[in-house]
Amino acid sequence: MEELRLAAVRELELLDTEAEVEFDELACLAANVCGTSMSAISLIDRNREWLKAKVGIAADEIPREHAFCDHTIRGTEVFVVEDARQDPYFRNNPLVTARDGLRFYAGAPVTGRDGLQVGALSVLDVQPRHLSADQRQTLEILARQVGVHLELRLRRRNLQRSLEERTALVAELGASNQLFQTFMHHSPMASFIKDARGRFVFYNRRMAEIAGIDMNFAIGRTDAELWPDHVARTMQDNDQRALAAGELVEVNESTESNGKRTDWRCFKFPWRNLKGEQLLAGIAVDVTAERQHATALSDYQAQLEEANARLQRSANTDPLTGLANRRALDEGLEAAIGTPVTPGHEIAVLTIDVDHFKHVNDTYGHAYGDLALRQIATVIARCTRAQDLAARSGGEEFTILLPESGPAIAVAIAQRILLELRRTAWEHHPISVSIGVSTVSIDDSDLKCVLVRSDRALYAAKQQGRNCVVYLTKKGAGTEKKTSRQNSSVASLQSEDNRQTLYQEPSLALA
Ligand code: GH3
Ligand code: MG
Ligand code: MG
Repeated sequence: MEELRLAAVRELELLDTEAEVEFDELACLAANVCGTSMSAISLIDRNREWLKAKVGIAADEIPREHAFCDHTIRGTEVFVVEDARQDPYFRNNPLVTARDGLRFYAGAPVTGRDGLQVGALSVLDVQPRHLSADQRQTLEILARQVGVHLELRLRRRNLQRSLEERTALVAELGASNQLFQTFMHHSPMASFIKDARGRFVFYNRRMAEIAGIDMNFAIGRTDAELWPDHVARTMQDNDQRALAAGELVEVNESTESNGKRTDWRCFKFPWRNLKGEQLLAGIAVDVTAERQHATALSDYQAQLEEANARLQRSANTDPLTGLANRRALDEGLEAAIGTPVTPGHEIAVLTIDVDHFKHVNDTYGHAYGDLALRQIATVIARCTRAQDLAARSGGEEFTILLPESGPAIAVAIAQRILLELRRTAWEHHPISVSIGVSTVSIDDSDLKCVLVRSDRALYAAKQQGRNCVVYLTKKGAGTEKKTSRQNSSVASLQSEDNRQTLYQEPSLALA
């Protein structure tokens, strides 16, 4: 309780302050009314009585243990000691025992905040006195006036403080707004704030530059009044996205100004101001250079890929005929070797050599020989399927790898090549080829056996008189051979094919 009372005293901020006329006058009035030689308005501090106003008293403060007023504040009514020298409690008080010591005391408590007794208005004399009822009442009234006065001071001071705080706050707000504006207007990013209907309430200089407008033009206007329709529509759609999401969204936008396109990465987020109004803020970063760089990079990558593909094609293509070259054939063979061969999923190889090609060269020239090779390659390409690998494997030799092909398919394709060559319109006399055919058997250790076998089949075809197909297969312990020859018509070819004979060739028995 005493601590609360002390807090109320301190809150007055009156202790140890200069004298003030309004308190002095109240003290003077009290002395006059009560007819005393002295009066005081005092506050009771923790260890002292401090006098804010005084009449006829020299001291500014009195130790609390000697203070008559300390008794006054313990009650609610006027406290009177008519003759202290006769009073058993006060008679030994140093204020009383001093020369011309105190004899009379009357004090009315002064009430502060929450009814707490902060001090007293007192009248004193060096002679014994008696206080009339009127005087006592007047003393009470004056003490209340002191209380009212204190209260008013307190209010005025608090008001003053809040006014100062408000002024400081306004200044602070102004400074903070200035900081915001400075910050925003110096930002290399375009920034803006729009209201719920998409009307600009703020935008920075960068945004004004981009839009080619001054710093006021767009306030209260929407994107539709600033940008071409399609640009404004995208922006408004993105605004709606951010508002619906209720959080930051990252979007791409682009603007056009003076024929120059600028790409933006926009960060948009909704928020509400103090009045609870819905707003949308956005920050846009210029990513034009970044985009151009990325586009250039992807163009460059595409070119690089294209060049690589071209290189790959040329590295695998025979320049004369456009068929696969030896290298591509080797790669194809390599891949085929790894493929497990099961019945019905065989691999066939066709080895083709042009007949009497030396003679063709010698007779019609090397250039004509080249042309003939190209014509043969065209026929081969036409007769093979997408999955087949047809390669020019040597000077006037070709090899065809036929995946998923058994003897019937392989021989049919070989025969088709012979037939097509017969039908070809040659500039000089007809050119034919001999074809050796072989297929992978389940017990072949690798594809090389097949290559060797088809080479031998080719040799056999040459032996047979050329312009024919020899199929050589490994069956049981021995090797079997069938021959089919192209005759002048398809019908005879088919009949030849049907009559294919099988015979052992001793020199090939170990193939
Ligand atoms: P065979 O029926 O026995 O195969 O007789 P051939 O005359 O074709 O004999 P061989 O296969 O030994 O001769 C191949 C000839 O092919 C030799 C060479 O002059 C010719 N030749 C090889 N490469 C090319 C080429 O790129 N262009 C031309 N025009 N001729 C080539
Ligand atoms: Mg040859
Ligand atoms: Mg030849």
